[in-house]
Amino acid sequence: MSQDSAAFTPERPLRVAVIGSGPSGIYSAESLIKQADVPVEVDIYDRLPTPYGLVRYGVAPDHLTIKSVTKAFEKTLNDDRVRFLGNVEFGRDLTREQMLAHYDAVIYAVGASSDRHLGIPGEELEGSLSATEFVAWYNGHPDAATRDLDLSRVSGVAVVGVGNVALDVSRILAKTAAELHSSDIAGHALNVLERSGVKDVYILGRRGPLQAKFTTKELREFGELEAAGVDLHPEEIQVSEAEEAAIGDNVVKKNLEVLRGFQTLEQRDVPRTVHFRFLVSPAEILGDEQGRVRALRIQKNRLTESGSAEGTGEFEELPVQLVLRSVGYRGVPLPGVPFDEKSGTIANQGGRVTGGQQEYTAGWIKRGPSGVIGTNRKCAADTVALLLQDVSSGVLTPRTGSREALADLLAQHPVYTYEDWQELDRYETSLGAEAGRPRHKVVQLEEMLTHRRG
Ligand code: NAP
Repeated sequence: MSQDSAAFTPERPLRVAVIGSGPSGIYSAESLIKQADVPVEVDIYDRLPTPYGLVRYGVAPDHLTIKSVTKAFEKTLNDDRVRFLGNVEFGRDLTREQMLAHYDAVIYAVGASSDRHLGIPGEELEGSLSATEFVAWYNGHPDAATRDLDLSRVSGVAVVGVGNVALDVSRILAKTAAELHSSDIAGHALNVLERSGVKDVYILGRRGPLQAKFTTKELREFGELEAAGVDLHPEEIQVSEAEEAAIGDNVVKKNLEVLRGFQTLEQRDVPRTVHFRFLVSPAEILGDEQGRVRALRIQKNRLTESGSAEGTGEFEELPVQLVLRSVGYRGVPLPGVPFDEKSGTIANQGGRVTGGQQEYTAGWIKRGPSGVIGTNRKCAADTVALLLQDVSSGVLTPRTGSREALADLLAQHPVYTYEDWQELDRYETSLGAEAGRPRHKVVQLEEMLTHRRG
């Protein structure tokens, strides 16, 4: 480290604000406290009272082992140099100018909270929504918990896209309430799914099985469902010998094996079927007289030389009353922070915000919505390495603000601390335990704020 690192001392540490307490935010804080060259103090902000972002509100409720990553996150949040300031929204409760005045550096790690559209007629109909909204609803996100969903008159669902999110929403729809009981799915969603009329779930890939984005472990789960069988069109998973020999990716190879294996599964008398369809694109969502989804018109595709999907002009109608588009998340701009509309990310070079003032970014809002939770660890570490490089080169200089001055700014605001969250966490898990469930999520913001330490 150069002389410039001495600009920060244990008495006057490098003060960093991290915006967002999902995986990329917490991993950023972890990287900052794990290095020994520069003394640091990290404040992690979240607009919600609860930490962990997509781990709490994105990861499927029946994938509890993935959620156990919060054990590692707790270590970071329990560190004396780290503070959690929940229920503080960037741009509303604290502006960018205020952040820049009080912190030496700001790391934006807000993820990608919106979704992409299909751009086909009928997308505005009732019963057409994004998988993002559906996931937020069943995971009890306060923004989505009040959504009035009734699945009792839904027998067919089309899920557009063949990534892991598409598999998550399809699996939740295909599982029975008994199977979901051991998950931490929100109570309101469990009640609705218990009365679900769903019989057919169609998972639609616009290209072939070799181009699908899902991973094998997630695909395999469809062969293990209690009340749902799997249906495939053999011609849609047909792969030539040459194509098969050219598969370089082990996941793709394994996916193909699993899909082929589905065809040999023992036929069971079960009420639900998950249909994997490939080489089909949604063309139009059709509505009834009340403006509700009644069917999805799809067009069959062929693959072009370059590997993209091309319509054949042959159409088919799927009788569905719910269409979930699961074609990728999209980042949302933060007030005043340079944004690249095309990629839906904060404009940045390797994590340094383009034209920023000692501002950095990590995770999905830096590189786009791809990769698993662990991918964000390396991504955050790369950003923090750049930040420390800027400290070392003297580009990143101390500012005048202090924690005290900041406390004055937030004096009238109900900041939710990490200790408050621990209280809510205890409440949710004890309520869950009474019902034999891992957790009973509190889903209303107002109610969350009533659970505080002492
Ligand atoms: P994704 O993996 O990028 O998949 C998006 C899918 O949408 C692709 O199949 C894509 O097909 C399709 N698509 C895009 N535009 C389309 C259109 N106009 N019409 C039809 N299909 C279209 O995104 P994701 O599923 O949202 O997942 C985001 C990230 O989170 C991924 O990295 C995923 O692995 C991760 N994740 C992981 C887990 C887990 O580990 N269990 C769970 C959930 C999410 P093309 O390939 O043809 O573009």
